[in-house]
Amino acid sequence: MRVKFWGTRGSIPVATSSAGIRDKLIAALTQAAGRQLDTPARIEAFVDRELDFAVGRTYGGDSSCVQLDAGDPHYVLCDLGSGVRTFGNHALATRRGEPGTYHIFMSHTHWDHIVGFPFFMPAYIPGNLITIYGCHASLQDAIRRQHGAPSFPVEFSQLGAEIRFVRLEPDRPYDLAGFRVTAKRQRHTGDSYGYRFERDERAVVYSTDSEHKLDDPAATLAFAEFFRGADLVIFDAQYSLADSISIKEDWGHSSNVVGVELCQMAKARHLCMFHHEPTYDDAKIASVLAETRRLEEITREDHPVQVSAAWDGMEIEL
Ligand SMILES: [Zn+2]
Ligand SMILES: [Zn+2]
Repeated sequence: MRVKFWGTRGSIPVATSSAGIRDKLIAALTQAAGRQLDTPARIEAFVDRELDFAVGRTYGGDSSCVQLDAGDPHYVLCDLGSGVRTFGNHALATRRGEPGTYHIFMSHTHWDHIVGFPFFMPAYIPGNLITIYGCHASLQDAIRRQHGAPSFPVEFSQLGAEIRFVRLEPDRPYDLAGFRVTAKRQRHTGDSYGYRFERDERAVVYSTDSEHKLDDPAATLAFAEFFRGADLVIFDAQYSLADSISIKEDWGHSSNVVGVELCQMAKARHLCMFHHEPTYDDAKIASVLAETRRLEEITREDHPVQVSAAWDGMEIEL
């Protein structure tokens, strides 16, 4: 199974600023000073192998959208953040006019998780089938109402694809889209839902927009169970610990530190930090990642947890 990240930013889509690009160029050219970079191949090798990720690349700025690809002809996605625009264009380009089937699991309907749908081109094309799953009673209304006047030029009813909504109950396993899928309610304003996807002895947990309070042992244990033995946990680590225990407590998100603790308790294999804070630049996300890896190492008992920070375009093979 392959997991592909199309949007990894929290709260609102962002782009690297002009000043941010300038800083990257200065850092790259400084590092290049005195090097023999006189052919395109040498320059490419330098950029790919020697520059830090935060200098030579970017975590990206599209909001939440993650694809689970188990090799089926249909598509499986989590959330409809702005990243689904790029995904949809990619899917259409590879299908060359062939109709497609899309299964989309929604954590909740805050703007950053639905804002991509009006720009999801497969929704406009007759013959495509889109099924949107979620646990909120208001799911269909929330997605419909961002279309049409006064907010958008196209009414939902004008979309050409067949679009179905399916309400799920949390804590109950379903067989959907080729996976065993279980949803779990999470602490967040208006509630959000995490999903555990299981197939071929692999498990992926998508758990974004979830605030964990480790002072509630029953809730902590329930999440450790939900993450139990997962090959990959995609985790809302929007804040650094300093932010999460000071000004941003009760804002509905978690920190890298909580992610490490829960994945260690659950003996999960890989913690992927997701839903990055929109005010963090690439250097800040890279430094939170480095801190988190150090924390994992010094608190590790017998079970190592791989730690990564998601970026738009990243793929993880399980
Ligand atoms: Zn969000
Ligand atoms: Zn939210």
